[in-house]
Amino acid sequence: MAFTDRELNCRDCGAAFIFTAGEQEFYATKGLQHDPVRCPACRTQRKMMRPEDREEIPHFGVYASYGGRTPRQLHVASCAQCGQTTEVPFVPRGDRPVYCSNCYNDVRTKQEERDAAEAEAAAARIAAAAAQTAERDQERQEHVGAVVADPEAL
Ligand SMILES: [Zn+2]
Ligand SMILES: [Zn+2]
Repeated sequence: MAFTDRELNCRDCGAAFIFTAGEQEFYATKGLQHDPVRCPACRTQRKMMRPEDREEIPHFGVYASYGGRTPRQLHVASCAQCGQTTEVPFVPRGDRPVYCSNCYNDVRTKQEERDAAEAEAAAARIAAAAAQTAERDQERQEHVGAVVADPEAL
């Protein structure tokens, strides 16, 4: 099969770029069915901007713990509580802490205890408010009852 240069449009910047015959041949030998979606400049930029997306040598976690069969992309991070290296299924960012599974369970248990305590406090407030309303209703009913019970008094 002969390859000829083809012009493609970059998905990121929209610029036209050449998917050369040589590259097509290379893709074919690698068994890649799809055309490249980004121009070379965007591919390079992407690599520089998102180092976590680059393929890494599987010396830790992902392949070690799943035998390389996991389809999940895991990211290595340090636990905010104990500092141990751990893996998370999302890209760790600075705006929220990452915990290892032990600390996560710990943190979650504490959070659940806090939530339970809050729910209890809220229930108590609601019960107190309901009791007050009931009291008022009862007073009103007694008052109305008194009037109805003794119509002659008027
Ligand atoms: Zn581009
Ligand atoms: Zn930890």
